[in-house]
Amino acid sequence: MGVKRWLDAWPVYRQLTGTDPLGRGKAAQSARSAALTPRTDTADRVADSVCPFCAVGCAQRVYVKDEKVVQIEGNPDSPISRGRLCPKGSASKQLVTGPQREHKVRYRPPYATEWQDLDLDTAVDMVVDRVLDARRKGWQDTDESGRKLRRTMGIASLGGATLDNEENYLIKKLFTALGALQVENQARI
Ligand code: SF4
Repeated sequence: MGVKRWLDAWPVYRQLTGTDPLGRGKAAQSARSAALTPRTDTADRVADSVCPFCAVGCAQRVYVKDEKVVQIEGNPDSPISRGRLCPKGSASKQLVTGPQREHKVRYRPPYATEWQDLDLDTAVDMVVDRVLDARRKGWQDTDESGRKLRRTMGIASLGGATLDNEENYLIKKLFTALGALQVENQARI
């Protein structure tokens, strides 16, 4: 190896003599990392999306290769997040590809010790039955003086931080239409 090549392999030499005096770019790059290709370069297409974790709604770019998600990055075109993602959003590829992702509805009946797999239609029907039953059982038509109430105390909604404005709007509409008073959200962002 010539002296120049030997010196060029030395990061501090590149930092002192090159165009990267702070040593945060090329000067600090190893030969191995220089030879790597980012997954974003090999994707077939990129889909715009929104991080599902919280109500901030940071914009994402979802990189897809062979119809599989290979990387998720922040979208710099977003005026809200300007390309940034917090650690949860940065790790959201695992939501799609992680081995612990559930692909079926899991149901554990009261007092059972084992989980069952349900198809989605069955699960939705079960939720509907329970909501209507609880609504009916908790229905209050009038108060003790005969004044109209027309409400149910049998159901309530507690939203989570992943719900965005539009989802919360629809939840409020739905539960108010059902006669529920107790509609609340955990998020305080
Ligand atoms: S979880 Fe993080 S990346 Fe996702 S929307 Fe919230 S702040 Fe943004």
